[in-house]
Amino acid sequence: MNEVTDQYGRLVNGLGLQPAEDELFIGKLRGFPIALKFIRGESSALLLFQIRHPLPAKAQELSDLCYGDELDRLITEKKVEISMEDRLAWFTLVDGAEHLADGSVLRLLNAVLTAFEKAGLGRNSELCHYCQTEQVATLTCENGRVAQICPACLHQRTQPIVAAQAGALRMLALCPVAALVGAVGWAVIWIAYDLLFELLKTNVLHIPRIVAAVEMVIIGGLVGGPVGWVMKRIPHKSKKLYAIVPALLAIIAVVAGEVLYVTWLVYREMHEIWLGLSLKLLTRLWGESDGFYLIMKLLAAGAGVFMAVTIARPAKPKLNL
Ligand SMILES: [Zn+2]
Repeated sequence: MNEVTDQYGRLVNGLGLQPAEDELFIGKLRGFPIALKFIRGESSALLLFQIRHPLPAKAQELSDLCYGDELDRLITEKKVEISMEDRLAWFTLVDGAEHLADGSVLRLLNAVLTAFEKAGLGRNSELCHYCQTEQVATLTCENGRVAQICPACLHQRTQPIVAAQAGALRMLALCPVAALVGAVGWAVIWIAYDLLFELLKTNVLHIPRIVAAVEMVIIGGLVGGPVGWVMKRIPHKSKKLYAIVPALLAIIAVVAGEVLYVTWLVYREMHEIWLGLSLKLLTRLWGESDGFYLIMKLLAAGAGVFMAVTIARPAKPKLNL
């Protein structure tokens, strides 16, 4: 496969492309901004070109494109794909390695560009593809896409995202509140668990596994849900941080929930809230509980952490160019 890498390097150099984010190489060819990515799998190697133009995907000009015999045949054989989005054409060579080896990439790419030129897509090749009035000297690369966009148009599109992120920062202050809500959820569950046993006047309760599993999901949602919900709305920089922080907050919620639960036990016996005694009793209670009860609590805590981390996965606001 090293040979393929060399051939790919030569292609990139030959096209005069520069490295950009996400393993993309970008540049301009015959006035069209293009980006190239090479995706190598076990048995296949895709060559993925982005070709930028100023027209929306549904433009009449794009429906009448004429690519020529060779491309038409490859498209029919599903060896080449050309798909359109607004201002962007995706040109995919499915057998990327083969085309690199036989040197046909440039010929095929040029055939596509010729078709685009004939349809009038190459007019005003220096202008911003959005306002079509401003000159653009440098290409922009965002979210794995190349774009020819002027600073004003880019600013207009970035502004709502920046505003959303600033709003989301305020959510940071809600983290302790979310942990507290989770703690209350935890305490309520285990108080309800105790009360259920009292109500049924039994020490043993047979719970079908499926019910137990559903319960764990509910507990996880109650304990980890609020934390996850808040974290999801905070702009993220690091993926690791976005797993560690909700996990920690969920653990804090569980421990605080245990304190609340024991405080309830103390209150029931003594009719007063005695936090010092609750803390002292907590560790004793853990020590004296039977294994099954502890395992259930650990599983529930795990479910809480899992739900917090899962829900917290942020929906990154994307700039779609
Ligand atoms: Zn513009």
